[in-house]
Amino acid sequence: MKSTQDLTNKHILVLGYAMTGKSVVDFLVKQGANVALNDRGDLSTDPSVSFLIEQGVKVVDGGHPLELLDGDLDFIVKNPGIPYSIPILEEALKRNIPIYTDIELSSRYAVCPIVGITGSNGKTTTTALLYEMLKNRGRGEAHLAGNIGIPTLDIVQNATDSDIIVMEVSSFQLEGTEQFHPHIAVLTNIFEAHLDYHGSRENYVQAKLKLIANQTSDDYLIYNYDQPELHDLVADSPAVRIPFSTMRVDEYVRSHGIYEEAGVIYYQGEALFNTDLIQIPGEHNVQNVIAAVAVALIEGIELASIKEEINKYQGMPHRIQPIGEFNGRRYYNDSKATNITATITALDSFEEPIVYIGGGLDRGNTFEELEAHLKYVKVAALYGETREKMRESFVAAGVPVVEVFETLEEAVAFADGHAEVGEVVLFSPSCASWDQFKNYEIRGVNFVEAVERLNK
Ligand code: ADP
Repeated sequence: MKSTQDLTNKHILVLGYAMTGKSVVDFLVKQGANVALNDRGDLSTDPSVSFLIEQGVKVVDGGHPLELLDGDLDFIVKNPGIPYSIPILEEALKRNIPIYTDIELSSRYAVCPIVGITGSNGKTTTTALLYEMLKNRGRGEAHLAGNIGIPTLDIVQNATDSDIIVMEVSSFQLEGTEQFHPHIAVLTNIFEAHLDYHGSRENYVQAKLKLIANQTSDDYLIYNYDQPELHDLVADSPAVRIPFSTMRVDEYVRSHGIYEEAGVIYYQGEALFNTDLIQIPGEHNVQNVIAAVAVALIEGIELASIKEEINKYQGMPHRIQPIGEFNGRRYYNDSKATNITATITALDSFEEPIVYIGGGLDRGNTFEELEAHLKYVKVAALYGETREKMRESFVAAGVPVVEVFETLEEAVAFADGHAEVGEVVLFSPSCASWDQFKNYEIRGVNFVEAVERLNK
């Protein structure tokens, strides 16, 4: 680990004691910092906390008292999900106490390069595939970290200078950075998102741009050229810019970027492979794949090995995940589609007849936006709180068979009974899971199990 700032005896307040908070406290204690840990929940039953108290950590739980800001606090490290609008953070901002997230410390203390991947969609898919490719680097180790579910400081503490860290970073994490500096940055796309947290689209975009704020001409920036809005946003970057494109390939992309033309992927004019090598469906996934390929090429990975990883990659669970072919019908689990936009992406990924399954928590929205994307849907099995609202839109769009059910299990049975050879059965609920499931992962597992039971 490099040591850009000695943390010995620095006074640091850690807010939030979940997975990331645990790794932050562990790191800071090892650095000899003077740590206060604060969580609004009850920490008294957590066995790891008594160990921290023995180590000299001051633990305050059950609220966020403002007194924690008194004294000579050097900075705060907060869980990325905690909003800036809570009183203790508003007060800290007033007092000019820096508020960071774990990735800021990770970037300062990492001795190896970081690949930082952000965007509104496609982060996890791109990160996971890239990690598989970089494992074949032939020097050092590749590590996976970040928003994908691995606290970055756990990785940074053990990485050596010949390694590389593939880090998925969220806008919440980026908001709490100052010196975050990835050697290679990937910006998959920017759609409107998380307005409740960031306040405005402008703030959200600014948070995302912190990904590239500290890059220099020794660094690389891979960005989505198909979103014209991004052209201006990256225009001042001194980094080597590599645009990726599947939809608006022009001379600039042909000479500088990675792109798809007529089913072939090219890098700066040189043909690499055909898109049929890619097993995960949809144009959006072609974008995710080529963004990852650009990084792998920069890192000197052999094309043959890049191609092998692309061909092996079956995607992340619950994201238009192929779960198998049963009696000639292909099944996909897209339980992660908790909103209409994600379901539109899934529906637009197929050109075969679709037997659709969806529904879930009613958040008060309607489903008209789906109507223009239902042309391949021949059967819809709708369930959960939103089933009647969704039925209206599916009928309005002219879907030939639309049925409603109470539970997912009943909907799957109906869909399975109506799917024919060559067709796609797609579970892309378009709603949150909480009317019937604890989370989208459990919902996805239920879907897969129901399919397997029916096709034993
Ligand atoms: P994230 O980690 O950014 O949430 P994921 O890779 O987990 O993204 O994909 C989540 C969902 O986002 C996918 O199921 C798909 O619907 C959509 N998606 C993925 N990649 C893209 C992309 N490049 N462009 C648009 N939508 C995408």
